[in-house]
Amino acid sequence: MNQVTSLLIELCGLEDKLKKRLSSQQRAEVSAQAEEILKKIPLPIQGHYGRLRDAGKRPLAEVVNGICKGCFLTIPYGDILRMKDSNDIHICDHCGRYIYVLEIVRPEDLEQEEETPEPPSLEETVRPSKSKKANSKPKKVKSSSKKN
Ligand SMILES: [Zn+2]
Repeated sequence: MNQVTSLLIELCGLEDKLKKRLSSQQRAEVSAQAEEILKKIPLPIQGHYGRLRDAGKRPLAEVVNGICKGCFLTIPYGDILRMKDSNDIHICDHCGRYIYVLEIVRPEDLEQEEETPEPPSLEETVRPSKSKKANSKPKKVKSSSKKN
């Protein structure tokens, strides 16, 4: 994972803590930690992060099962693969949050295809009607041909 992304995850976790009730001492400690992390984050990313936060959004979202947890919209599978491979920081196209993937779920795993190929019905071989007893099939058989 991108190093900045892991810093953002850490930072976001600390900011979540700050939303809770803390003693003033705890608050000071967590704020100090957050500030330390913030120093390591490039300024443009800090800027975007801050704008999201100021807009009342959680600036970071995990992508789970191909869905951004920030806006609950689907991220294309190809993008997720690229996210996982690349060492860049990524932003959700839909909501603009920073996103990250911890675990990739392939679409094949989500919707399991159970295609059992049906054998071609070749049993409709027309036999020469030598036996007159086999007239009780549920198929279309003319059963009204009784001759004396
Ligand atoms: Zn999103």
